[in-house]
Amino acid sequence: MTPSIKEEEYFTRLTLENKRKADAEKLLRREEHEKIQLKELHYMRCPKCGMKLSEVDHKDVKIDKCSHCNGVWLDAGELEVISKLDQSVLHAVFDIFRK
Ligand SMILES: [Zn+2]
Repeated sequence: MTPSIKEEEYFTRLTLENKRKADAEKLLRREEHEKIQLKELHYMRCPKCGMKLSEVDHKDVKIDKCSHCNGVWLDAGELEVISKLDQSVLHAVFDIFRK
């Protein structure tokens, strides 16, 4: 094998490698962009019917409630907070669920 062929092979491989890296970065950027778009699209929207959620405050918990299907959405950790509430407070929270 002559040195020039080896060199050519090296550069071909380098170009391919760079292209692969660029493609991977492009894909990553697209995924990030999609994530942002999805978040904008879905933020404070009901996961079932897609209508707007309204935030209902009750003591330490903020319950996101769908204005359309009356579904209730809890943020991370809120179920645990609710489970530790006093019975009387719990009933008040359940009233929110029921409405
Ligand atoms: Zn809904």
